Amino acid sequence: MAATSLQELFVEELRDAYDGEKRLTKALPKMAKAAESEELRSALTNHLRETERQIQRLEQVFRTIGEPVRGKKCDGLMGIIEEGKSSIEELEGSVLDAAIIAGAQRAEHYEIAAYGTLAYFAELLGNEKAKNLLGQTLDEEKAADEKLSTIAKSKVNRAALMGAGMDEDQNEGRGAGRMAGMRRSSRGNGGTRAMANDRSRARRSTR
Ligand code: FE
Ligand code: ZN
Ligand code: FE
Repeated sequence: MAATSLQELFVEELRDAYDGEKRLTKALPKMAKAAESEELRSALTNHLRETERQIQRLEQVFRTIGEPVRGKKCDGLMGIIEEGKSSIEELEGSVLDAAIIAGAQRAEHYEIAAYGTLAYFAELLGNEKAKNLLGQTLDEEKAADEKLSTIAKSKVNRAALMGAGMDEDQNEGRGAGRMAGMRRSSRGNGGTRAMANDRSRARRSTR
């Protein structure tokens, strides 16, 4: 059914978001289980609980417009989750954690885009209650994304860079060539120097 009005498009987008969140409630426990870092595991588990509340909020939004609660296959998140699955199968240790964060942040950015649009549509349609509910979820998705960045920058990516838990040959053989390559370029400089380089790189990338 093609949407011919903003109201109909709003409903279509709600269904997409609803399906996406349902998929994430299945994917997040698997990602948490695979993660090595305690901090990452707990961030993913916390976001699973938030995701369950986000589903309830979407159900409330459906009610404000008198539409049945229904999902419509979200190809975007399905693809992002699918990509994450291959990392879980192929990688291990801190490089796996770095890959889990990379995948989880893709999902958060997708959701930030979706909820930003939905909250704005609700505003345009004069649905104050829906706007507030969707805005709350938007804020949670942004916070989840920032939390993942913090974990990546504080520990996980540096551990992956140092090759913790895996030897270099394995790193290179498993498609983590960029990280293994960065590690190789710091050979001979000693660990402290490599970490300082990593910190300045992290600072640059936040600008
Ligand atoms: Fe969500
Ligand atoms: Zn989608
Ligand atoms: Fe999310």
